[in-house]
Amino acid sequence: MEIEDYLNSSFSCSCGREHKVPIREIVVEGDALLKVPEIIKELTDKSRLYIIGDKNTFGAAGSRLAAICRKNDYKVNKVILEGEHVVPDPDTLFKILEKVEADGYMVACGSGTINDITRYLSYKLNKPYTIVGTAPSMDGYASSVAPLTVDGVKKTYNAAPPEAIIADLDVLKDAPWRMIQSGFGDLLGKYTSLLDWKLSKILLNEYYCAQAERIVREELTNIMEIGSELKDRSRESIKVLTKGLIKSGLAMLMVESSRPASGSEHHFSHFLELYGSLFDQGIPSHGNKVGLGTYFTSSLYLKLSEVDFSRIELNHDRSSRKEDIKEIYGERAEPVIDNLNERWKNELISEDRLEQKEDKIKKLIRESSKSLENVRRYLDQIGILEREDVRALDTDWIKKGLKFGFEIRNRYTISTLLRQAGLLENWSDEMVDSYCQKVL
Ligand SMILES: [Zn+2]
Ligand SMILES: [Zn+2]
Repeated sequence: MEIEDYLNSSFSCSCGREHKVPIREIVVEGDALLKVPEIIKELTDKSRLYIIGDKNTFGAAGSRLAAICRKNDYKVNKVILEGEHVVPDPDTLFKILEKVEADGYMVACGSGTINDITRYLSYKLNKPYTIVGTAPSMDGYASSVAPLTVDGVKKTYNAAPPEAIIADLDVLKDAPWRMIQSGFGDLLGKYTSLLDWKLSKILLNEYYCAQAERIVREELTNIMEIGSELKDRSRESIKVLTKGLIKSGLAMLMVESSRPASGSEHHFSHFLELYGSLFDQGIPSHGNKVGLGTYFTSSLYLKLSEVDFSRIELNHDRSSRKEDIKEIYGERAEPVIDNLNERWKNELISEDRLEQKEDKIKKLIRESSKSLENVRRYLDQIGILEREDVRALDTDWIKKGLKFGFEIRNRYTISTLLRQAGLLENWSDEMVDSYCQKVL
C-alpha cells in the first residue's frame, strides 16, 4: 500500500483494533516547498502563518518557504530559535509561545527537535500544525508523542501529530551528511525492533499488528539497495529513506506505541544518551547510535539461533537486577527500578515455555538472517562505524549499554531474554571485544 492509503482514515484491523491516522497529507517529492501554500489552504482558513525553525533550518528551507508563502498572499511571522543546538525544554517552548498568537497557523520547519516542540504545543494549544521537513534524520515526523527535557531529564509527553508532512527532496538531499547517516541508522534499527516485537508476541502474547509490521517493512526492503546511492544523495535514494522513516512513524501512530520501531537497539541508544548527559559528554546523534546498537543486537539474534534452548537455565532474580540498576544508573536509578517492578510479573517466562517456542523463535530469526548478517555491510556502506564520534564512544559505556540498557524501558526484547538466560553479560563483553578488534 502507498502512504496515501492510510491517511485521514480510521479502520478496523485484523489485529482486533481500530486504527486511526489523523494525518491528512504527506508529500515526499522534489520542489515540494512550492506546494506548501496550496496544501495549507486545504487545511486552514487562517491567513497568517507562524513558521517555526532555527538558524539552520531557516537557512535550509525556512526563508524560502516564508517567501513562497508571502507570494501566495499569506502573512508570515518567522519564529527563529536562537543557538546552534535548540534544546526541547520549557525555555524553548516559552520562546515560541511568546510569539505565536491565536490568529495564525503553525508551520514547523525542521526535523527532530523543532518538530518535537511544535507537536507538543499543537497538542496543548489544540492548534493543528504542518511540518516541513529539512532532513531525513529520524522517524518522528508522524509521531504523536514528544520527548522533552524538563529539569535535565528527558521525558515523553503526549502530543499531536501534524496535519501534513511535507518533505522536499531537494531540501532533504542537501541535509548534513551526519543527519542522513542518522536517518539510515534509525531505519536500519527496524530489523531488530520488529524482531523484538515478534519475540515478545511469541513468548508473552504481547499485542501485535501484522499491518503495522508490513508498513515498516515495505521501505526497509528498498533501503538496503540504496545504501551506496545515498552517498551521492540521489533524489531516489533520499526518497526511499524519507518514506521509510515516515512510514515507521505511521506504524507507531497506528498502534499508538513505538513498539514497531524501537527495540533493544534503541534502548542501547537511550542508555548512551543518558550516560552522555550524566557525564556531560557529547555523543553521536540518535540514528547513529541506533545503527551501532543494531550492529550488536543483530549479532545477539544470530547467536541465539545457534543455542540449544533445552540447555538454557532461566534465572529470574529480581534483587540482582535491582542491584545492577542501582549501580549502573546511579542517581537516575529510581524510574528504572519502577520499570522493573512494573514489568516483573509480566515477563516471567518458564523454561518449558521457552522450549515450546524454540522452533518458532528460530524460524523467526532464520527468516531475517540474511538482513541480520548484512547489517555490518549496510553500516559500512554509509560509514556509520567509521564516524569519529562513534569511534570515540567509551568501550565501557558500550558494554554497559548492551548489558543494562534494556532496563531503561518497560519492553521485552532479546536483551531481556538473554539476561533471564544468564547469557547477556558474556555475550556482550565478547561482542564488544571483537568489535574493538575488527572496527576500532
Ligand atoms: Zn529512532
Ligand atoms: Zn492492526
